Amino acid sequence: MSDTSTEVYALRYATRPNCMTSEAFYRHDLYGETDTPVGMDYFFWLIRSQGQTVVVDCGFNENVGPTRNRWISTTPSELLSRMGVDPKAVDHVVLSHMHFDHVGNTHLFPNATFHMSRAEYEYWTGRHRDVPAFSWPVESDEVRLLESLRREERLELVDESGEVGTSGARITRYAGHTPGQVVTDIDIDHKKVLLAADAVHYYDEIRRKRPFYLFTDLEQMLDSYDSLRLLDERPDVDVIPGHDPAVSAGYVEVDKDCFDLTTPLVALPRDVVDADPVNG
Ligand SMILES: [Zn+2]
Repeated sequence: MSDTSTEVYALRYATRPNCMTSEAFYRHDLYGETDTPVGMDYFFWLIRSQGQTVVVDCGFNENVGPTRNRWISTTPSELLSRMGVDPKAVDHVVLSHMHFDHVGNTHLFPNATFHMSRAEYEYWTGRHRDVPAFSWPVESDEVRLLESLRREERLELVDESGEVGTSGARITRYAGHTPGQVVTDIDIDHKKVLLAADAVHYYDEIRRKRPFYLFTDLEQMLDSYDSLRLLDERPDVDVIPGHDPAVSAGYVEVDKDCFDLTTPLVALPRDVVDADPVNG
């Protein structure tokens, strides 16, 4: 359904401008290119649609970040306040996957229903959860918090895809980065915005077939890239990568670190973006 009043924002709570290409992409040495800073932005997303407020992911926790050498520049609460959102009034929170930088602030949303994929939930709560080499990208306390939300019937699990309440947003599983990574899509006027989160961290993953360095199944991740590339090539779909500085460079900043994903700054031809993912 199309709804001209639908709002979609990327909210940037942290940034690592010195993140190198070789840190971001798997086997960057294979490309025979000089290693340069690609940067990494940390976002979560806000959708207002059909009278519902939906938050997609909630960033890493302020106390957890420093233990992983990650630093919040603006708290998620402050960013939501800039957008006039009281976290207590958020109806739904989509958790794209369980990595620590996506699920660290679920406590901010006491009245929300949470949504994630069954495959994701079962993987991180499963039989290998206590093996550090398996579980290092997630925080055990945060996994336990999600288990308590599940017991309280506040966490809904989808298999392949599902609706996010009555907001009009949908989630669909694109596995590979993790087993249950989901992408959130929402229709705006004449277009679909597809919040890829970590199914696509950078445009280069789908446009230049360069896999991100971290995955649970490389073949699945490449299959997901192929599907998402077909969507990215459509003029009526905007695929929004989860960590690419090109997003903050490419959309109108309505308040500091708050980017309106319904309003691209310039409709750049795709090959310009391809040539320069940092500044494109
Ligand atoms: Zn991730």
